[in-house]
Amino acid sequence: MSRSAHPAGPRHADVLPEGHYSAPPADLNALDPKVWAQTVTRDVDGVATVGGLDVKTIAEQYGTPAYVLDEADFRARARAWRSAFGADADVFYAGKAFLSRAVVRWLHEEGLNLDVCSGGELATALSAGMPADRIAFHGNNKSVAEIHRAVEAGVGRIVLDSFQEIVRVAHIARELGKRQRVQIRITVGVEAHTHEFIATAHEDQKFGIPLAGGQAAEAVRRALQLDSLELIGIHSHIGSQIFDMSGFEVAAHRVVGLLKDVRDEHGVELPEIDLGGGLGIAYTSDDDPREPHEIAKALTEIVTRECESARLRTPRISVEPGRAIVGPTAFTLYEVGTIKPLDGLRTYVSVDGGMSDNIRTALYDAEYSVALVSRTSDAEPMLARIVGKHCESGDIVVKDAFLPSDLAPGDLVAVPATGAYCRSMASNYNHVLRPPVVAVNDGEARVIVRRETEEDLLRLDVG
Ligand SMILES: *Cc1c(COP(=O)(O)O)cnc(C)c1O
Repeated sequence: MSRSAHPAGPRHADVLPEGHYSAPPADLNALDPKVWAQTVTRDVDGVATVGGLDVKTIAEQYGTPAYVLDEADFRARARAWRSAFGADADVFYAGKAFLSRAVVRWLHEEGLNLDVCSGGELATALSAGMPADRIAFHGNNKSVAEIHRAVEAGVGRIVLDSFQEIVRVAHIARELGKRQRVQIRITVGVEAHTHEFIATAHEDQKFGIPLAGGQAAEAVRRALQLDSLELIGIHSHIGSQIFDMSGFEVAAHRVVGLLKDVRDEHGVELPEIDLGGGLGIAYTSDDDPREPHEIAKALTEIVTRECESARLRTPRISVEPGRAIVGPTAFTLYEVGTIKPLDGLRTYVSVDGGMSDNIRTALYDAEYSVALVSRTSDAEPMLARIVGKHCESGDIVVKDAFLPSDLAPGDLVAVPATGAYCRSMASNYNHVLRPPVVAVNDGEARVIVRRETEEDLLRLDVG
C-alpha cells in the first residue's frame, strides 16, 4: 500500500520520492490523541507532558532513549476491556506484548487474567503475585520443565498446541497427581491481516492443530480420553493488528462447528471458547481501531448467534488482547544526534536508539509516527526518516514522517504507540544497552524496568 504524495514544503527536494506517507499534517505540533497515550499534551512552553510530567524532565532524570508509559492509560484500557466483556467472559492480557512485575500487579488489581508463553513470563507473573489460576500457558513447544512448573504452580489453563503436547501434559499432570484444565488451540483456516483476511495457506503455520482433515476433532477425542486432563474448551487466535471483525466471524463459526461435532460425538458441551487477541491499534493517524465495547458486543453476538443455530449453550468467552491494551500507552523518547539532508530524497535523523529498542519496522515494515516533543516549531515540514545508531542500513525506526525543518541535535523526539512488542522484543545488538521503562502517573515517574548497564552485559560474559 503506497500512499505517495507530492506535498509542498520540504527544503531539500522539489518532488518527494515514493514512500509510505501522505501529505504533511496541517499542524506538526499537534499530538493526535489517537496515537498518543491518554494524558499526553503540551505545556504552556510547548514541551510535551505525560501524566503531568514534561519530557525534558523525564529525559534529564532517566536519560534517553527511554520507554515512557502512561500508567493511568494502561489501567483505563485494561478496565475498559474488563468492563466491556463483563462477568460472563474473561480477559487475558497477552504478556508477550510487554510484561513486568508492575504490569502484572496493575492487571491483577484491574481484574484481568494473564497469558504467558515461556518459563520466564510465568516466573515474572508468579513473582508479582498473579494467582496461578488466572494464568494461561501458551506456546507451540513448551519444554517438559516449563509444563512441569506450570502444572505444579496450578495455572488455570494450558493451551495445547500439538498431539505430542496432549500426551506430555497429561503425563506430567498424572505424575503430579493433578487434573490439569486445558484448551486445544486449533487453526480454523482464517489468517487475519491488517485490513483483510485471506482464507488460503493459513494452515501452513506452526501454531495450533488444523480443523481441516479432522485433526482438531481427533485432538479432542484424545484429550477427552485422558483422565489427568480436563478439556474446558477450544482456542483460536487468527492474527494480529486486525481492524476487521469478519475474520473473527469466520473463526467463531468454525470453532462453534467443532463444539457441535464434539457434542454430537461425545455428548459433551465444552464450556469455553477463546477467540485470542490481535485487535489493532493506531500507529499513525490513518488507523481507526475499534473500542473494546464495540469488539465485545460484536464477538458476543457472533458466538451467541452461532451457538443458537447449532443449539448449543453459549460457552464462556475469553479474549487475549496484548497490543490493544499496552500498545498505545507508551512512547519512546529519543534524543536527536545527527541530521543528514540528502538532496532529492529525504533527511536522515539519527536518534540514540534504533532497531534494538524497536525491531518492528525492520521486522514487519511497521509504520510509526514521530513528533518533536521538547519544543514546538513553526518551521516548514521536512520529509524525515528516523534511524538508529546500529550498524545496519535497515536500522529504521520510522520510515517516512514529517518533522520541522529546524530540527537540531539535542532536540527530543518521541515515537508513540511503542508500548507493545518493543521493549519485549528489544535486543543488545551492538552491545547497546536496553532502555528503561519509566511509568508516569499523577505527576510522578517511577522506573519499572531499569536501564541495562555495562555491568549487566559483562555479567553474562564469563569467558
Ligand atoms: C500474540 C498473541 C495474543 C496477543 O496478540 P495482540 O496482537 O497483542 O493482541 C493473544 N493470544 C495469543 C495466543 C497470541 O499468540
